[in-house]
Amino acid sequence: MSANDFLSGGFAPAPESADHFKIKKNYDLYIGGKWVKAAKRFKTTNPATGEVISQVALAEKKEVNLAVKAARKAYDETWSKMPAAERGKYLFRIARLLQERAREFAVTETIDGGKPIRESRDVDVPLAAAHFFYHAGWADKLDYAFPGAKVAPLGVVAQVIPWNFPLLMAAWKIAPALACGNTVVLKPAETTPLTALKLAELFDDAGLPPGVVNIITGAGETGQALVEHPDVNKVAFTGSTAVGKAIRRSVAGTGKKFTLELGGKAANIVFEDAPINEAVEGIVNGIFFNQGHVCCAGSRLFVQESIAVKVIKKLQKRMETLVVGNPLDKNTDIGAINSVEQLERIKTLVKAGQDEGACLWQPSGGVPRKGNWFKPTLFTECAQSHRIVQEEIFGPVLAIQTFRTPQEALTKANNTPYGLSGGVWTDKGSKIFKMTTGLNAGVVWANTFNKFDPTSPFGGFKESGIGREGGVHGLSAYCDLKI
Ligand code: NAD
Ligand code: MN
Repeated sequence: MSANDFLSGGFAPAPESADHFKIKKNYDLYIGGKWVKAAKRFKTTNPATGEVISQVALAEKKEVNLAVKAARKAYDETWSKMPAAERGKYLFRIARLLQERAREFAVTETIDGGKPIRESRDVDVPLAAAHFFYHAGWADKLDYAFPGAKVAPLGVVAQVIPWNFPLLMAAWKIAPALACGNTVVLKPAETTPLTALKLAELFDDAGLPPGVVNIITGAGETGQALVEHPDVNKVAFTGSTAVGKAIRRSVAGTGKKFTLELGGKAANIVFEDAPINEAVEGIVNGIFFNQGHVCCAGSRLFVQESIAVKVIKKLQKRMETLVVGNPLDKNTDIGAINSVEQLERIKTLVKAGQDEGACLWQPSGGVPRKGNWFKPTLFTECAQSHRIVQEEIFGPVLAIQTFRTPQEALTKANNTPYGLSGGVWTDKGSKIFKMTTGLNAGVVWANTFNKFDPTSPFGGFKESGIGREGGVHGLSAYCDLKI
């Protein structure tokens, strides 16, 4: 398939080149600093074309055991004994190597997962490097992070991550774990294993001692075997609420520490005194960033009734300009849906929205023929009881409702099983304080959306999970603190 097979939204195609590095035809498991073969393999595809990119090893119980064993050995013999400043040096080195190979990682992320190159290049990769830099700095300063406490590592950490931010989630998980002196077994998602495997190559280049990080690939069964392994001291999971609940049941009574970062259904609330054009950009960024495959996506829009018509009109006009197509093209705003399964999930929920009486609107442009695509979509006439208002769609679909008073906005916004994030748009500082304190969500943005920084803790309430990642809060989740 050539770049010309994609739509380009009226722009001349501007595809990023993908010929300056190699994606191998086969990948094995990275265990104990070596590439270990498994009996079976599975395919990872490019969701924008359906083409198979690579065949990846499937880790079963035997390989999970090997990986945990390697992590335990590295913990006992090397990593927990190393002076903290030395651990920090490895993390700095990893961060710098990632910056050096930024383009390779960005292109790989986009080919394997479908997200626009503009996002993998400007968000995923730089933020991943920032997480390694940030935690590198903490490695020898943990006593200052937790004054008065005796800080010790936990041991071997099992980490399972999703497909929406494959490299970034690997960095969020690995960097703090290593900074605090733990060793890691990480399992990336089955549709997006490649940047984690490239990260393993990079760890090798950084001279990271064998077994400090082990990368094993596979699907749910591999993840389950890993988190249930008896020699694991902590489980860190990001993914669906259903699997998060199963993991919480499995760790109960084992003494394993755990953090769960699960789904969301964020309210993005726009008041009549908001800067409307900026708010419209914020709405677009909130729901269409990464095709809406974002746990903190602003998937429920609440607009004050007096400006609803104006905001929706402006939003529709803006949506007409969004370029859906080749993720490798630098003009692309909305890339491919990550998998056939996810596309089906989105279609099912959108159909439920129509069946339940909400009113669907999509821009007039088309989508490419091959691959997994879904047009940016908005629904008006939504009710609190609709599935599209209550359930996480994890796609480019926005459910719009109106409100008259701040209290009504809060009541509606908090009427959800989730509590991960939220957004408020207003000119008034006092309203910002009322709303941000009133919203039952872990992260609330004011007059902006989807802003991330390694220094800032991220995590949710209720069915959005438990524990924080990033900042000092995130660090504490990887330490044993004796007061
Ligand atoms: P999932 O929870 O099934 O997968 C996430 C990760 O967990 C993957 O690596 C997967 O292999 C692994 N996994 C699956 N079953 C497991 C088990 N029993 N034990 C341990 N690990 C297991 O998510 P999904 O099916 O890919 O997506 C389903 C829905 O989850 C999406 O529609 C979305 O709503 C939500 N989701 C949320 C996030 C997030 O960032 N919070 C990320 C991905 C998906
Ligand atoms: Mn893939």
